[in-house]
Amino acid sequence: MNMENEISLLIIYTGGTIGMIKNPETGSLRPFNFEGIYDQIPELKRFHYHLEFRCFKPIIDSSDMSPAHWIKLAEIIEENYEAFDGFVVLHGSDTMAYTASALSFMLENLNKPVVFTGSQLPLGVLRTDGRENFITAIELAAATEDDTPLIPEVCIYFENQLTRANRTIKYNAENFNAFVSPNFPVLADVGVYIKYNRHHILKPNFKKLKVHKNMDNRVTILKLFPGITKEVMEGILGLPGLQAVVLETFGSGNALTEDWFLDTIERAIGRGLHIVNITQCAAGAVEQGKYDTSLKLKTMGVISGEDMTTEAALTKIMYLLGEKLPPEKFRAIMNLSLRGEITVH
Ligand code: ASP
Repeated sequence: MNMENEISLLIIYTGGTIGMIKNPETGSLRPFNFEGIYDQIPELKRFHYHLEFRCFKPIIDSSDMSPAHWIKLAEIIEENYEAFDGFVVLHGSDTMAYTASALSFMLENLNKPVVFTGSQLPLGVLRTDGRENFITAIELAAATEDDTPLIPEVCIYFENQLTRANRTIKYNAENFNAFVSPNFPVLADVGVYIKYNRHHILKPNFKKLKVHKNMDNRVTILKLFPGITKEVMEGILGLPGLQAVVLETFGSGNALTEDWFLDTIERAIGRGLHIVNITQCAAGAVEQGKYDTSLKLKTMGVISGEDMTTEAALTKIMYLLGEKLPPEKFRAIMNLSLRGEITVH
C-alpha cells in the first residue's frame, strides 16, 4: 500500500494482442503506447488503486518469449516487490501458460498476487475481451482479506475464470474462453460476484521472496506418435548436451513396447538423461504400471509426471536443472508439489 493506504499495483505489459489497436490508415494491428491506456480504458480511472505501468522494450508477441524474458519479468517483480501489493502481467495468450508456469517456479515464497491476462481481440477493437480481462485481473490482484492478499500465487485470468498458472493450458485458438485447468479446480469464478475457491488457493508463508533466475533450457519435448522411428528417437535422445526430456505419451502414460524403443530409452537414462512421462491427453494423469505398456518405463527409471501439464513439467525441469541438483534429488522433487503444480497422493 502507498502513503494514502491505497492498494498499489504494478501492471507489466510484455506484448501480445491485448495491447494492439487498429491503424486507422492501413487497418492493420499495431501496438499502442501504454501512456494512452487511460484513453483506451477510461474505466481504469474509477479504481481507487494506485496503478503504475511498465512496458517491455521492445514489446513482443508471446511466440518470441524465451527464458531470458521470463528472467526480465521476474526481475521487474523482484525490484518492485516491496513497493506494490500485487502485479498484473499483460502477455500474449499463445505462450502465457509457459511464462506463467515458469514464473511460478522462479518466484519462491511468493506472498503477493501475480495475475497474468491477455485477450483474443485487441483493446482497440470494439468487441474486445481485453477490457473485461484487464479490469477484472486488476480487481483480483487487489483483493485482500485482513490486509493479506487473497491470491498470493501466480495465476491466469481469462474470460471469467482465475486458474493456477502451472495448472493451466491454452486449449482454444479462437474462443474468448481460451484457457482451461483440466486437473485442478479454478481459483475463482467471476460472474456477478467473484467467488473465490479459498481452500484451493495457496496460503501465504510470509517468508522472504527468493527469485531463481537460473533457468537451464537443455531440455526438449518429445511427443510420441504411431509410426515414430528409431532414428527420430535416437536422434532426439542423443542430442549433445541434452539433460532432460518431457516424453509426451499416450493415455495414462503408455508407450511402444518394441525392444528398439525401450532400449533407446534405457540407454538414454543410463547416460544420465532425465525422462519425464507426461500424457498427451489434456486431462488426467500418468499412472506408470497400470498397463504393460508403461510398466517397463517405470522399471527403467522414467519419472512419472503424474497430472502435471507439459508447460509445468517443462518449466519445472528448467528450474530444477538450474538448481544443479544431484540426480536422485531431481527425481524426488519432480514428484513433489513445489507450487501446487502436481497432485500428490
Ligand atoms: N500471438 C499473440 C501472442 O501470443 C496472440 C495473443 O496475444 O493472444 O502474443
